[in-house]
Amino acid sequence: MSNGILRLAEKHPDKPREACGVIGIWGENQDVQVVHLCYLGLYALQHRGQEGAGIVTFDGQEMRLYKGAGLVPEVFDEDNLAELEGFAGLGHVRLAAKGERHVVNTQPFLVRSSYGSLAVAQNGSLINGSELRERLLQKGTVLQTDSDSEVILNLIAQSGEESLPAAVARTLELIEGAYALVILGEDMLLAARDPWGNRPLTLGRVEQGYMVASESCAIANLGGEVIREVEPGELLILDWSGWRTYRQQSADRKALCSFEHVYFARPDSCIGGKNAYLVRKAIGRELAREAPVNADVVIGAPDSGVAPALGFAEEAGLPFEIGVIKNRYVGRTFMRPTQADRRTAVRIKLNPVVDVLQGKRVAVVDDSIVRGTTSGKLIALLREAGAREVHMYVASPPYRFPCFYGNEPSSKSELVASGRTLDQLKDLIGADSLHYISIDGLVRAIGIPRDQLCVACFTGEYPITPANYRREEDG
Ligand code: SF4
Repeated sequence: MSNGILRLAEKHPDKPREACGVIGIWGENQDVQVVHLCYLGLYALQHRGQEGAGIVTFDGQEMRLYKGAGLVPEVFDEDNLAELEGFAGLGHVRLAAKGERHVVNTQPFLVRSSYGSLAVAQNGSLINGSELRERLLQKGTVLQTDSDSEVILNLIAQSGEESLPAAVARTLELIEGAYALVILGEDMLLAARDPWGNRPLTLGRVEQGYMVASESCAIANLGGEVIREVEPGELLILDWSGWRTYRQQSADRKALCSFEHVYFARPDSCIGGKNAYLVRKAIGRELAREAPVNADVVIGAPDSGVAPALGFAEEAGLPFEIGVIKNRYVGRTFMRPTQADRRTAVRIKLNPVVDVLQGKRVAVVDDSIVRGTTSGKLIALLREAGAREVHMYVASPPYRFPCFYGNEPSSKSELVASGRTLDQLKDLIGADSLHYISIDGLVRAIGIPRDQLCVACFTGEYPITPANYRREEDG
């Protein structure tokens, strides 16, 4: 902070954080240039990771890689995009999990192997990544990063299989965890989703080829059409002949991350066949049915609370209002006035609409409470603006257990609901009342059976847990 710059994209923002988005495109002929499609696709996935971005392209002769720290438009410009020629490409936006924030971990990774040039980009986290890393090191492999993707790339390169698809399929048998993986080879693009279907991945058609992306919004952004979601455990090949399934090996139990619908996915994306915006409204309706509502007006915490607040207000028969305005022109950094206190910093970002709030009993809906800091500041802001009462409604159950599948927080100590009663939480954030949706209510609203979803951060029941994996609460 010595230079007076406050990073608004805080190191520990009070929201769960999605760890990455991926995209891969195989053009329909050698003349197609895909770099701008990759760039625009990554733009659509920016909400999944803001710490780094990268693109690899292949022109039939060589693969070219450009990556760096920051947002997509901060990393790329017309000059470096012009260098990335090719009819096939893959891209990645990164949010560092497990504290691995060094730029060296920025994806994609590109190497030369016996299968020719190979590039990889991954969303998710391996639960046996450390064990596989150790095995590679024992064999004398030189690893330059902390990333699971580098481990995957080495496992593929060292598989000894005759073809690249066979090498990737062999590697998928070794890795355990949550992942959406895109691999670019010289003859094909491969895409794989973990057997539990925890991380999302969708296949689509664009005018000049086929593509996969973490979310359908990236396909729509390119004017493409969704073909279908990649199946849990499916390994797809995209090449000159179109796309096909190379291998299908899903787990009996599926475990789609329920937080995709609560918060991670962009509202216009469909995950598990359900539109995220409509699911969020349905969560709001369930919440209004489950919890007592004594309010004059409903507002959403900007911006992620707005969709559930709309459903909540509809169900409760109360007016929905915009009670707080978010200043959209505050960038990731801004100059903090020398004498400014924390309240001023919040005010620069959020401003209450006094005429909506004054003298009212306000029901404020937010998607989740992770560390509790934002909720406390928001409630204080509403009271200062004249709200008579502030009742907090949360569109997810209490977030009590860390995520081990690549989303943050990954430590129990960072979770304000862990080890606290509802009353203690209410007092901590300064609300008149606090209500969470139940797990059953959340599952009903998502519309996917509970045994097909991961709800581990609410229940502590981890669906992907090998015997040798030590959970944090085990000590
Ligand atoms: S633990 Fe929570 S955030 Fe992690 S994958 Fe499961 S539902 Fe998603």
